[in-house]
Amino acid sequence: MNVPLLDLKAQLDPIRDEIQAAINTTIDSICYILGPEIERLEKDVAAYSGSLAGVGVSSGTDALLAALMAMGVKDGDLVLTSPYTFFATMGSILRLGAEPLFVDIDPVTFNIDPEKAAALLDDPAIARRVKVLLPVHLYGQCVDMAPLMDLAQKHGLLVLEDAAQAIGAVYPVVQNGETVWKAAGSIGDAGCFSFFPSKNLGCMGDGGMIITSNLDMAEELRILRVHGGAPKYHHGVIGGNFRLDAIQAAVLNVKLKYLPEWHAARRRNAGRYQQMFTQAGIVDSGDVSLPAAVYADKAGPQPTVDYHIYNQYVIRAKDRDALRDYLLSQGIGVEIYYPIPLHQQKCVAHLPLSIMSYPESEKAAAETLALPIYPELTEEMQEYVVNRIAAFYKAK
Ligand SMILES: *Cc1c(COP(=O)(O)O)cnc(C)c1O
Repeated sequence: MNVPLLDLKAQLDPIRDEIQAAINTTIDSICYILGPEIERLEKDVAAYSGSLAGVGVSSGTDALLAALMAMGVKDGDLVLTSPYTFFATMGSILRLGAEPLFVDIDPVTFNIDPEKAAALLDDPAIARRVKVLLPVHLYGQCVDMAPLMDLAQKHGLLVLEDAAQAIGAVYPVVQNGETVWKAAGSIGDAGCFSFFPSKNLGCMGDGGMIITSNLDMAEELRILRVHGGAPKYHHGVIGGNFRLDAIQAAVLNVKLKYLPEWHAARRRNAGRYQQMFTQAGIVDSGDVSLPAAVYADKAGPQPTVDYHIYNQYVIRAKDRDALRDYLLSQGIGVEIYYPIPLHQQKCVAHLPLSIMSYPESEKAAAETLALPIYPELTEEMQEYVVNRIAAFYKAK
């Protein structure tokens, strides 16, 4: 059996006509850069995430870069973030002449540990240089934001959420004893999304968006998106070409409607894995540990609460590399996100952070493996995946 890590054709087939019609309408509109499709998408994504404004941009990376620019991050600043994430998070900090201040991750969620962040900021010499907290909601589950927001307030810092993998994922905020679910990107001062094809909401190329309820910041971002020109050809600041294509927005406007059901299907698949792995005895043996949805309890029996959107379903596995090779040989698509933590990347070898140690991030990089979790995955395919993993450990 062949089980790919992601099957975008299976997603496309049922909505192909609708998407082609939307693309054709955009082609005929002769409006290819910014315009009504983008405005509609900005409004709908912001509303979907409970934010006041959206600014469509050219990629998730450019969303991070533009947002950090709008927040005034510059040479010599520190931006607190995770060493265990996609490169773009660190890359956008470094491109502005700033440096990442890494906080190690929580071993259960793979997200930064707020207690470790608090401990770092206790040093006034460090706190003075930090400008922004940049939590990454890895794999589709939110960072524990409440203690981070407290820290930001205490130290007067801005919070930018890297929600590239977590559009629509919600986090339980307790207000007056009641739980209010807030969506990724709407909790801090701004949040960044990526519409890269493999994200839960993906376009047919590159795309991204920043959401914020700070309307001044939204305006600043709209100016930065067009080289800082406001009005046109008058450049008070230096921006970039960070625009989103109208054709990509048209595709996303169709897909956004289906996002809640895709999230629900991914969560159903995660539930099935949980059951199948447990039944196969692989969890009790300690060979594999499954991802934990840490906010699920607060959601109670409501299946519609997107406490985890499973952009990736990431297990920890004994003998990870051998398991990966075996599964690939069995026709199962798996991937390592991410094999090298950011402080160990060659491009930062000249920086002091490269000699630091982040043991949980290093351990995760050595142990994790992403399994297929996409919405159209069938029960039969999942049985095959679990069955092959069971066979691998049995043979050992
Ligand atoms: C995908 C991703 C990005 C970058 O998005 P692009 O659209 O590929 O530029 C940034 N951060 C994280 C955590 C991501 O997963």
